[in-house]
Formats: sequence, structure tokens, C-alpha cells
Amino acid sequence: MSTGKINVTADNIFPIIKKFLYSDHEIFLRELVSNAVDATQKLKTLSRIGESKAELGDLTIQVKVDKENKTLTISDKGIGMSPEEIDKYINQLAFSGAEEFVQKYEDKADGAAIIGHFGLGFYSSFMVASKVEIFSRSHRDGEKGAYWSCDGSPEFTLEESDQRQERGTDIVLHINEDSTEFLEEGRIRDLLKKYCRFLPVAIQFGEKEITETEGDGEDKKETKRTVPDIINVTEPAWAKAPADLEAEDYKEFYRQLYPMTFEEPLFHIHLNVDYPFDLNGILFFPRIKPNMDLQRNKIQLYQNQVFVTDNLEGIVPDFLTFLHGVIDSKDIPLNVSRSYLQADGAVKKISGHITKKVADKLSSLFKKDRADFESKWNDIKMIIEYGMLSDDKFFEKAQKFALYQSVDESYATFEEYLEKIKASQTDKDGNLVVLYAAHKEGQHAYIKKAQNKGYDVLLMEGPLVSHLMQKLEGGDQKVKFARVDSDSIDKLIAKDEEQVSLLSEEQKEKLKPIIEGEVDKGTYTVVLESLDSSEVPFNITVPEFMRRMKEMSATGGGMMGM
Ligand code: ADP
Ligand code: MG
Repeated sequence: MSTGKINVTADNIFPIIKKFLYSDHEIFLRELVSNAVDATQKLKTLSRIGESKAELGDLTIQVKVDKENKTLTISDKGIGMSPEEIDKYINQLAFSGAEEFVQKYEDKADGAAIIGHFGLGFYSSFMVASKVEIFSRSHRDGEKGAYWSCDGSPEFTLEESDQRQERGTDIVLHINEDSTEFLEEGRIRDLLKKYCRFLPVAIQFGEKEITETEGDGEDKKETKRTVPDIINVTEPAWAKAPADLEAEDYKEFYRQLYPMTFEEPLFHIHLNVDYPFDLNGILFFPRIKPNMDLQRNKIQLYQNQVFVTDNLEGIVPDFLTFLHGVIDSKDIPLNVSRSYLQADGAVKKISGHITKKVADKLSSLFKKDRADFESKWNDIKMIIEYGMLSDDKFFEKAQKFALYQSVDESYATFEEYLEKIKASQTDKDGNLVVLYAAHKEGQHAYIKKAQNKGYDVLLMEGPLVSHLMQKLEGGDQKVKFARVDSDSIDKLIAKDEEQVSLLSEEQKEKLKPIIEGEVDKGTYTVVLESLDSSEVPFNITVPEFMRRMKEMSATGGGMMGM
């Protein structure tokens, strides 16, 4: 037997990292800008605690494309690196200076969140560059400037250099033949907007022209001016305390998030947790119009204000993917694949917490202003009903605020509703029979008949109601749902009295062949009793059970494809 140490060298690891670290090549820009932000945040922290004497000045990060020379440059005025520091932080693969900094300044670095922690992000630049150069100068007086370059092989050059005179770092990527898309301004601007839109340090990409107007009427003067194009909002609403925000701030943030949407959200939920995990965010309930295409995946996931993904499928419960807004957590791993995210314990806890918060918020809105809640109900019920069906914990909480509307327009929670109909709608077997209609107009005659008997009828419409009724029937009480037109009203709520048919036996015999020729037996029942003596002498009904089976098999797995 022998034991030993597996020999890992940069020679064999490096190409693997370059190829497989990220499935998405565009991620390199997020990594490099994140490093520039980290360098800036570190400098601010050191300055605040007196460990750096540097004049902070303007700390804007610059991103520049030089199409002619085929380079993309990311420049910051952050902490910088001496040649020794480059040797330590860059030449040592998988040694994270970010992690080291966080450990060292754990108690003092509050507010200046550091993004990196794997020590691999920088190398993602080799996915798109044939050569990478670093020009850097440390914030400490008397340090030598540094120059580093590497062509993607494990050999590098590191030397003292005065090419960068000021504090900070330039990362210069010589974009390779396969990646020339990253020399297009439009592409880079889009990427910056996607990943860096809410980073905490200003990021400039070129300039833009703005028009300023002075005075009005005839004196109105328009002047055009070019100003730096800052692509990000450094203090997004979700990173602030809820107490510091007004209703208007949330709306403004909604517009920042979805500049193309004109619809305003119904209400928001501000998530703000630091224990037992870190979670910030703002979720919005969209206004859902009937027949509107429900849009999924409008929620954006961030880690320390860096965009991670907007596809939360499998990460938060399905029904929450219909909400809008932002979730930000330091505990969400940034540098890993989707499947890993889905299995991650922290992510699961966060997801459970969000579900709970959403339920709590709805519950508090319900308690605070019931009339207002009722007025919004039809816009939010689809998401809530979907949640009730897909998450048992949410179902339990939602039972306290989910509303059911009668055909007379009044709203009640399910418990309230059962209380309301208990006296009149209990049948001879002790079942509470909930009568419902799917179409107020179409089933008008049946509704009326039920009302004439002193019964109430619920309006149950939408693709989810069959499933929802099934679930509600499974509670402690003996509850049965029956659609008003599924049988004669006296059979639906069978009391002890004898039932009388308006038709004689002779009439029934005559009608039989006519009806049987048209409808398929077993699925339909012929009720030989008219709704109203002025109408036809019989009506054809579909028993509740048969109809619901059909509906559920139609929407069954289809719930997911809503
Ligand atoms: P991570 O950010 O996860 O630590 P990276 O591979 O992205 O790993 O970066 C490695 C280290 O290199 C950083 O932790 C930091 O110490 C240093 N570094 C990278 N970019 C810069 C920069 N622009 N300014 C100063 N230091 C930097
Ligand atoms: Mg990094």
C-alpha cells in the first residue's frame, strides 16, 4: 500500500478553469467590474478606519473599448496593487484577496460589502482574451508601480513599472479572435446594464448627450451637453432601510427596474433580514388583468448588488416567479451553476423565508384595510391561488386572507363563508354544500333558482378552481362543492322532503328518446324538471364529479404551464 499527494499544477488546472469555470463567457465583465468595485470599497474602508491616507477623490470606475487596438479596459481608483501584491493575489490561483480582506476587517468593513470570494474571477478574463495586462499602483505611499501580463499560458511577466502614475488599477484585455463581440459598444453597454446596474460604485461607459431646457414659452432655450454616461444606480432602494423610503421611492425603483413597463405595481414587500441568513430585496405584486399573459421570471437575483440571474425557476417556489422585483443575498453563491443553486441549503432557507414573508404581508394588508384588500383581490388572486395549491404552508396561512366572492359581489374568507351558509346549506347527510357558478351570465337561470331557495352562490372562475375546490374539500369540515347547474337544486342540497317532478311519468317516457339520442350516457344526467315553468320542461346537467374530473385532467399538469 502507498499513500501520497495528488499533484496539482497550474499547467493542468489552468486550461480547465479557462474553459469550464463559467458556461457563459460574458460573465468575465461582471467579474472584472466586481473586482474594481471591491478594490474601491476596500479603499473606502481603510480610509474610514485610518489605515489609508489616500485622498479618495472621484472614485468612478471606467470601462473603455478600443476597437482599433482590440482592447477592453476596466480602470478603477481603488486600493491598487504593488508588485508583491500582484504576486500574492493574482499569481496564486484560487487565493482570494477578497476573502482575506473580509476576514481581516470583519468587524470594520460593514457597509462596504465585498463581492469576491473564490479567487478565480480574475481568470475568467482568459475566456475572451488572448492576453491580459495589469497596470497598478498601490494606495500606500512609496510603493512601486506594477506591470503584469500573461498570454493565457501558465507563464506570466511581472515587473516594476511607472506606467500607471495614479493610485488604482487598469485591467487591459486583448480580446481574442472568437470574442470580437466584446469590442462592440452596444454589447458592452448591454452587459453593464445587465450585471452592473445596481453596483455601489459609479461606473462610466463613454459619454452621452443630454438636452437641458431653460425658461419656457418663447424664452425657452435648449442646450445640448455631453456628460459621462454612468450606467448604474449606486444606492438602489432595496439596499436602504424600509424606514428611509416613501411610497414614491418604491414606485421610482420599480421604474428603474422595468423602464419599459408603464403599469404600476399593486403593492410591495420589503425583505430585510440579517439573521440567520442575509436577505434584502423588494418584491412587487403586479396587477394581473384577466386574460393577461402572466409573465414569469421578472424577479432578479443579486448577490451584493451584482446581478446573478433572472431565472428563479427551482430556486423560489413556482408561484413566486410571477412576482416582480429583486432579491439580494450575500449567502447566495455567485460563481456556480444553476443546479448547484437549486440544491444549496442557504438558497432553500431563503426561499422558504420569502414565501413566509409574502404570506405575512398579505395577511397584514388584509387586516389593516379589508376594503382595500378586497378591491385588489381580483388582481392578485391568481398568484395566491396558485401558491395555495403548490405550497401547503402557504395554503394554511392564506386560508386567513384568501377571499371568495359570491355572485352578489360580497367577499368572504372560506371560514366566514362556511359560517354564513351553515344554517341553510347543510344537506340531510350533514354536508355543507357550497354552490358555485363558473359563469355568472351563462348560469344565470340556475343561480336565480338557488337564490330563490335562499341559497348563496359563489363565483369560482379561472383555471385553478377545480384544484382549489378539491383542496378545500379536504379540510376538517364536511364540505362539498357543487356547481349550480350540475343537478336540480333539490338534489344538490338534498333535504329530507320528497322531491317532486313537474313532469308526469308519461311525459318523461316521451322525452327519453329525444334526449338519449343527443347526449352520451353516463356523462350527463337528464333532469326532468324545468328551471322555471315558463322555460323548457327539462334541462341537461353534468354531475359535479364527472365535470370536475374532465376539467382537472385538462389543466392537471398544465398548471405548471400557466
Ligand atoms: P476574488 O475577487 O474572488 O478574491 P479574483 O480572482 O476576482 O478573486 O481576484 C483575486 C484577487 O486579486 C482579489 O481578491 C484582489 O485581491 C486582487 N484584485 C483583482 N482585481 C483587482 C483590482 N482591480 N484592484 C485591486 N486588487 C485586485
Ligand atoms: Mg473577484
